[in-house]
Amino acid sequence: MMDLELSRLPGLGPSRLQALEKAGVRTLRDLVMRLPVAYRDLTAPTPLAEVRPGLECAVLARVVGDATEQRAPRLLITRARIADASGDTVAVWYNQPWLKKQLHSGRELLLYGRFSIRRGEMQLVCPSIERERGIVPVYKAVAGVPPRAMRQAVRAALEVGRGQWPDELPEGLKRRYGLCERNFALYNAHFPLNAESLSAARRRIAFEELLLYQVALSLLRSDARVGVRLEFPDSEIENFWKLLAFPPTGAQRRALYEMANDMRANAPMARLLQGDVGSGKTAVAFGAMYLTWKSGFQAALMAPTEVLAQQHYQDALSLLAPLGARVGLLTGSLTKKQHALAHEALATGEWDIVIGTHALITEGVSYQNLGLVVTDEQHRFGVRQRTKLGQKGESPNVLVMSATPIPRTLSLILYGDLDLSILDEMPPGRTPVKTRVVPESRRQDMYGFVMQKVREGRQAYVICPLVDKSEAVEARDAQELYAELVGLLPKARVSLVHGRMKAAEKDALLEAFRAGESDVLVSTTVVEVGVNVPNASVMVVENAERFGLAQLHQLRGRVGRGQYESWCFLVAEPNERLRLLAQTSDGFKIAEKDMELRGPGELFGERQSGIPAIGLSMLAGDTQLLKITHDEARALMKRPQDAETRQVVALARRAFLGRLEDVALN
Ligand code: ADP
Ligand code: MG
Repeated sequence: MMDLELSRLPGLGPSRLQALEKAGVRTLRDLVMRLPVAYRDLTAPTPLAEVRPGLECAVLARVVGDATEQRAPRLLITRARIADASGDTVAVWYNQPWLKKQLHSGRELLLYGRFSIRRGEMQLVCPSIERERGIVPVYKAVAGVPPRAMRQAVRAALEVGRGQWPDELPEGLKRRYGLCERNFALYNAHFPLNAESLSAARRRIAFEELLLYQVALSLLRSDARVGVRLEFPDSEIENFWKLLAFPPTGAQRRALYEMANDMRANAPMARLLQGDVGSGKTAVAFGAMYLTWKSGFQAALMAPTEVLAQQHYQDALSLLAPLGARVGLLTGSLTKKQHALAHEALATGEWDIVIGTHALITEGVSYQNLGLVVTDEQHRFGVRQRTKLGQKGESPNVLVMSATPIPRTLSLILYGDLDLSILDEMPPGRTPVKTRVVPESRRQDMYGFVMQKVREGRQAYVICPLVDKSEAVEARDAQELYAELVGLLPKARVSLVHGRMKAAEKDALLEAFRAGESDVLVSTTVVEVGVNVPNASVMVVENAERFGLAQLHQLRGRVGRGQYESWCFLVAEPNERLRLLAQTSDGFKIAEKDMELRGPGELFGERQSGIPAIGLSMLAGDTQLLKITHDEARALMKRPQDAETRQVVALARRAFLGRLEDVALN
């Protein structure tokens, strides 16, 4: 029933079906399980007199006079004046030629969008014209399926499957936690009757997924395995620290010591190293690789991008190669022949240490005696990937590193299978990045400042507004911003990187920026991860209010990596969240606050995989539920013979074990 094909639904023609299929949506179940990423409350439009910049809301207003069109290269701007009883404003759309016809004078429209000040004028930017009232779901965009068609299809799918979503959570459990019924939850998660039913629906869905995930993790943990066991004296740890150009921080020392002890024990290490951007995780990882090599085993380090792999490779060459370690690089861009040679070098043990990308875990790579696997920026990899590498040898030690500070409660849940080391101390001599919130009215001053820094020989990043539309829209926005900056900063060499480019092209541009061949890098958030350009001292983030605090903190970490005083400008109207960021540089404090304000689902963005993403996104602000499900999972596992436990275990196996099987880290 639930696996019925989508072609039976009204409004889905062949091209839309194909588009959905491309997005992984094939059955009714797929469609219904694709829960909204946000909701629009259209129940109470805001009077125009009460709007302010940065506010995203619904307004009910009439078109005043005729809409106008203005053409620029590759850009059509449609503008209409709109008014309600309380006031008026201007609404603006880009590249929507069909709109003007609909915007005839006197027509009343329910619009939903964000207000912003552009060139000194308040505007409602690219609002959608809404036909429904109520709380409306917003889905992650699928190219080729307009939002309205998506809503229609989901509604139809829910109708077809009415009452058919079996509820298998034990009754007792539901009663104890006051959870609503599953059919009710699914319907209301998409089309809430009201705010209360939405929150009951979210709670139910979040509870189920988080509980099952944690039960699944604890099932894995119980299969303890024997792993690679290293032997080395403590003096080797000291020897390593002496190799570096700087004394380690106390936190680095502690972390490496924890790892050393893990690796000397019988069970394989499974450890998460968390530390803010710039806290020096690489050195600790290299320490673990050094100890592994010294004990006669191979070590592999996997980075999420080619650029990062290159960077680590250079570091490994200069640090470890002089000691006699044979260091290799294995990435996707190698030629076929180089690949073959690399594979052989790993299989025969000719390489002691290998740095690479996904290529490290593709089929056909085998190791002679893999003792340690490190994955950098772990949040970029799915659980599957992080563990696939772990299976390449006889249960090697595993170290995963993440620069996303995660609140303790959350990491307990997500990485219940991992021990945790935290680098909570920055290397000395860092001056925190000076962070300022820049309202639209100060934009010109900010560009003046950027130009001054460029003249002093520094480099700057400009990050484009985050849009949750499509990559195409994102790329277009980036191009507009790029064109604007080229005009505004005629003396600077400006370059552009966006998500629609081929990986090789992106990498080449990033590399050129790193080499100082461009002064200003305009980019979508693709550079968020670990690029290290010490000469870059300015970070500008457009529409900063759209980003999560943790994400902004990450972006900010791209600067302040060298000896220069560094600045981060958040272009947005000031608010409490952004001010917090300007005041503190403590990533954990920021992550806690972000979780409180936006819910844990937002901490990771979309790229995170292998986590109970639906559960987290449905959690909204209800972080209490993290602890509640954690405790309940434990309680259930303490009485394994209980009927309730057995029922939940069966559900957890079905829901997660397929996905987590390879996670058996210890
Ligand atoms: P991240 O934790 O973001 O991966 P890195 O490992 O890239 O941070 O380190 C950031 C910079 O700090 C590097 O240039 C590194 O050489 C330097 N560094 C690391 N540890 C120390 C230390 N104890 N003292 C001084 N500089 C350090
Ligand atoms: Mg790093």
